[in-house]
Amino acid sequence: MHVFYSEERRGSFLVLKEGEVKHFRVRRIKREEEFGVIHEGKIYTCRVYRETKKEILCEIVEELQTKFPPKEVTLYQCVTVDLKTMDLIVRQATEIGVLKFVPVISERSFQKEEAILKRIDKWKRVVIEAMKQSRRAVPMEVESPLKLSDLDAISEENLILDNFYEGMKPKDLNLKAKTYSVVVGPEGGFSRRESQSLREKGFKSVLLEPYTLRTETAVVSIVSILMNF
Ligand code: SAH
Repeated sequence: MHVFYSEERRGSFLVLKEGEVKHFRVRRIKREEEFGVIHEGKIYTCRVYRETKKEILCEIVEELQTKFPPKEVTLYQCVTVDLKTMDLIVRQATEIGVLKFVPVISERSFQKEEAILKRIDKWKRVVIEAMKQSRRAVPMEVESPLKLSDLDAISEENLILDNFYEGMKPKDLNLKAKTYSVVVGPEGGFSRRESQSLREKGFKSVLLEPYTLRTETAVVSIVSILMNF
């Protein structure tokens, strides 16, 4: 089933506009064909009611059950030197069910705050594309950047992924917790000082076996473990 995204409800209709109209036409949806529409945290099956040049009015057939991720994960992702890697992480984090995405400025991020702020609109668009692809109705929130030194251990389980430290194995974590914070380093990893200060604040260091992963691979690996166990 093709899935689209709507920001407007008009009575019992959902309205597709702009990019979504283009996307809809590319898919060549037929008159009676049903398709999905995500609107304000819910997902519906719809049919075309009326089409104009500018918009598509979708008649709601039924509301589908919304799936919520079993764990509330906030991803504190240290900003990567290559911002395209951040785009990829945003997409994958949306697919695997991260609830909140916080870009973090760390020693080896080498990115200015303004450059990160400028990228946020793009990340919000990436989230919507990923939601459509994954049929995820609840959006992943994208927050403003924080400094690594400002992070606090505020979840039930607070984790720092660190390939330079003999940390815990994922199976020894509290997998019954409901809320998790996960801090992942940039391409060059954390400095020794950063890693130590997070541990002193109560973050548990986690080591994934057997190899050193790219930051985007590390994110997917740990969050999938949390979601599925
Ligand atoms: N440049 C470093 C690799 C950093 S990998 C080196 O040469 O060793 C980037 C980030 O991914 C790390 O900071 C960490 O957060 C995460 N990561 C990669 N592999 C990992 C592993 N095996 N266990 C835990 N975290 C890992």
